[in-house]
Amino acid sequence: MTMQGIDVAQRSFLQQQPIKMLIGGQWVEAASGKTFDTINPSTGEVLARVAEGDGEDINRAVLAARKAFESGPWPKMTPSQRGRLLWKVADLIEEHAQELAELETLDNGKPIKYSKAADVPLTADHFRYFAGWATKLEGETIPVSIPNMFTYTLREPLGVVGQIIPWNFPLQMASWKLAPALATGNTVVLKPAEQTPLTALRLGELIQEAGFPDGVVNIVPGFGETAGAALAAHLDVDKIAFTGSTEVGKKIVQASAGNLKKVTLELGGKSPNIIFPDADIKYAVRGALNAIFFNQGEVCTAGSRLFVHKSVYDQVVDGLSSAASKMKLGQGIDPATDMGPLVSQEQLARVTGYIDMGKQEGANPRTGGARPDGDLAQGYFMQPTVFDQVNDDMTIAREEIFGPVVVAMPFEDVEEVAARANQTMYGLAAGVWTSDVKKVHRMVAALKAGVIWVNTYNQFDAAAPFGGYKQSGYGREMGHAALDAYTQTKTAWINVR
Ligand code: NAP
Ligand code: MG
Repeated sequence: MTMQGIDVAQRSFLQQQPIKMLIGGQWVEAASGKTFDTINPSTGEVLARVAEGDGEDINRAVLAARKAFESGPWPKMTPSQRGRLLWKVADLIEEHAQELAELETLDNGKPIKYSKAADVPLTADHFRYFAGWATKLEGETIPVSIPNMFTYTLREPLGVVGQIIPWNFPLQMASWKLAPALATGNTVVLKPAEQTPLTALRLGELIQEAGFPDGVVNIVPGFGETAGAALAAHLDVDKIAFTGSTEVGKKIVQASAGNLKKVTLELGGKSPNIIFPDADIKYAVRGALNAIFFNQGEVCTAGSRLFVHKSVYDQVVDGLSSAASKMKLGQGIDPATDMGPLVSQEQLARVTGYIDMGKQEGANPRTGGARPDGDLAQGYFMQPTVFDQVNDDMTIAREEIFGPVVVAMPFEDVEEVAARANQTMYGLAAGVWTSDVKKVHRMVAALKAGVIWVNTYNQFDAAAPFGGYKQSGYGREMGHAALDAYTQTKTAWINVR
């Protein structure tokens, strides 16, 4: 296993054969002894062999999580002690920032400049934000109208939480799941995506180092159809938090029925990004570029449907196409890279299929639409692609592509564009570019999406709630809204007569 001559700090981590899973505080191989390879998508080379968890390992992990929830040090810890442990994880992430950024980039393909500037610091931030909440989970005293009753509420953890995450932001997704679950006193079994298991496992080591009691956090890498499905169906799991495709989200809901476990879902999107003629056009073009091409377009909120007022349509589409064609495609680990490869051969095939379909249906790729050749031919690269001559009914305008492909469509007025923007089964995010304050408020009210960005795009902060309308999911992560997803309310009635 070569490492392209790059001196990575985590060489020893990667050279474990295989990288093991974390169950009950121990690093163990799969019960079956099976392993799978994780690939560097920039080169197609194998990065590491990883223990392949399945139903049996999920059983072991759930048992460990149950034990840690019911007995041992975890349920006796004070909120302050829980908060300190989370804070310590954030410190350790910062201490190992370079290593984690490299690992994330090698496994996922994303540019190292973004892993360093965004993925790793935002992950640390997330743990710190929720560390603060551990001491602020207050109930209420309720002024009931029955004499002599003192009535109050407690917020209690749910129990054992199963968490299933995708490959696009492996470390951040792990933190969005783990931090609120732990701040509220639950125990966790986390299944990372098969394409990108590495940073979650390294994070598991840091969580152990921080001093979390054994079994509070269990991490079982493996496949969705086996490990993921077993976790979703497990009768001793109290909740599933899932981020991924809408299709798999529906399977999770079905699997949860056995014990009516609680479910929160962060699913796909086909988000509209709308540019009005009164916007600062240069700025809006840069915003549209970031909205679709950040993270290779592998972002659930990607601004993949670009609506541009007809009076500035040519100017915007020309500007966007020209900027897209100048983006530097390269290996994730190269500091000059603007856009890396797609995460896998499978994802490349999926995105290529959509591009071909767009061409067949009569759309015109203004730029991109092909794979780069030369040095990059070994990796799963796709050029940033801007389609015009698109209509609302084309497949590429309706389905989530989850790659660097945007469709541009002209519009004429506010009502029309709001209606077209909402014509989708999804409702995750939307962007609006205008300098007219009235349009801002009309659009914020009209758009059916869980997050609306005005004169900006792809902003995330641990304090700001995030989640979808319609088939983009249910429940909210981040902010204090996330605490509701990991606690249940107990109402106590005390007769004081
Ligand atoms: P995916 O196929 O839905 O996979 C997500 C996770 O679910 C992976 O860990 C996967 O395991 C697991 N899984 C697959 N089948 C399962 C099953 N039957 N039961 C239980 N778990 C199962 O999605 P993806 O292709 O990895 O990610 C891309 C999708 O995620 C896009 O649609 C995107 O919009 C969505 N996404 C949404 C958000 C959000 O916050 N709303 C964020 C990121 C991504 P494997 O790794 O083995 O497949
Ligand atoms: Mg990989």
